[in-house]
Amino acid sequence: MNITIVGSGYVGLVTAACFASRGNIVTCVDIDKNKINSLKNNKIPIYEPGLSESILSSYKKNCISFTTNYESPIEESSIIFIAVGTPMKDDGSSDLSYVYQSATDIGKYIQSDTLVITKSTVPVGTTLKVKKIIENEIKNRKENIVFDIANNPEFLKQGRAMDDFNSPDRIIIGVENDNIRSIFKDLYRPFSTNYEKLIFMDIPSSELTKYAANAMLATKISFINEMSIIAEKVGADINMVRKGIGSDSRIGYSYIYPSLGYGGSCFPKDIKAIINFSKENDYNPEIIGAVSAVNENQKKYFFKKILNRFFRNNNQARQFAIWGLSFKPRTDDMRESASIYIINELLKLGSTIKVYDPEAMSNAKENYFKDVSSIHYCNNKYDVLDDSVALILITEWPEFRSPDFDLIKSKLRNPIIFDGRNQYSGQKMKKLGFEYYQIGKNDS
Ligand code: NAD
Repeated sequence: MNITIVGSGYVGLVTAACFASRGNIVTCVDIDKNKINSLKNNKIPIYEPGLSESILSSYKKNCISFTTNYESPIEESSIIFIAVGTPMKDDGSSDLSYVYQSATDIGKYIQSDTLVITKSTVPVGTTLKVKKIIENEIKNRKENIVFDIANNPEFLKQGRAMDDFNSPDRIIIGVENDNIRSIFKDLYRPFSTNYEKLIFMDIPSSELTKYAANAMLATKISFINEMSIIAEKVGADINMVRKGIGSDSRIGYSYIYPSLGYGGSCFPKDIKAIINFSKENDYNPEIIGAVSAVNENQKKYFFKKILNRFFRNNNQARQFAIWGLSFKPRTDDMRESASIYIINELLKLGSTIKVYDPEAMSNAKENYFKDVSSIHYCNNKYDVLDDSVALILITEWPEFRSPDFDLIKSKLRNPIIFDGRNQYSGQKMKKLGFEYYQIGKNDS
């Protein structure tokens, strides 16, 4: 099939790579000239395991191409995905201007018998607005063009996006016309081999399914994080409580790991968006509001441990070592990462930072801490420790899981670790002579 993907970000590129790898002819359209130029030069602008290899292989076979020009790909494709960003506005609502702009540009060139699919996460009603925008553009052209519209939200997890796309748990499709089901069945057959993964529904339900899934997962995260504070207050160990409840098959182990809270490009904005569009429809969602508030508090609660240990009686500037910048392992994405808050708070107190992250350091330098001279980026996780008063672990990259603790101890000024991801055993840390602060357990 001839497919155009509008938007070459995390979702657009993964979708493009996976469809191209199955032999479809895919064109990626993006308004960012730099991004398209680097893609044309075989440079993949984001880090996602397996993505680069897949795109380069399809590029060699002429199955994938990149352009800033809408005209010919839109005219030639029978399927068009909209996968542009839907970032959060200041009031918490979704900024849909990129979606609507892409709909306008699609409307200028679309031909009959094309299926337009919103893949971006969009509030209920957006897909039908996209349809109206395209219809208006067609009217302006004074042509008689018939097209279909659908919603196919994306559930991939950054860091495992290629695996998730290639072997999805389910594929949600919102349609207003049952005749297009067969197009989706053909398109997704290579990804639906073990069992039928397509779940068809009406468009408002599929749009809400995406938000409901993210809200459910964020609720589990905020639940365990709230429980972790209660555990600390009453002298319990959240790591044991997690095992205790996760073993119940009705609860399960996933998404109940105590942490600095959720971050990334999806959960924070999608949670704020669902609150916003519920209120617009005369309902104030109590649980989801609390999920967001607990998450906001979690990184502050963790930072207070650092504040109490180092700055309670003494505001002297110090150097801290940080492991991890990305919002989760296996990605260079730092959107809404707890690292931004922790580092900014330390900088406000006059601290110097030495940091190491396997993939996100260029992103940090270019987009989050441009020209900040008191942050030093190191090429090795142990180099950050020299002359630092404590190590703060923010992202649980695999290479931080079993480090050389003797080396850490010998390099740090004080053997102190603040662990925002509960990676180590408190008992072992104590034996090794560390002052160890984790989430949901008082060890120090
Ligand atoms: P992103 O910011 O990484 O990429 C968006 C891309 O769209 C950018 O390259 C931008 O230049 C391009 N763009 C903007 N306006 C355009 C236009 N008019 N025409 C062409 N290109 C345009 O975003 P992302 O993380 O890939 O997310 C895209 C959507 O998918 C969002 O709605 C997001 O909520 C949703 N989503 C993201 C994930 C994830 O893990 N990142 C997972 C599921 C769903």
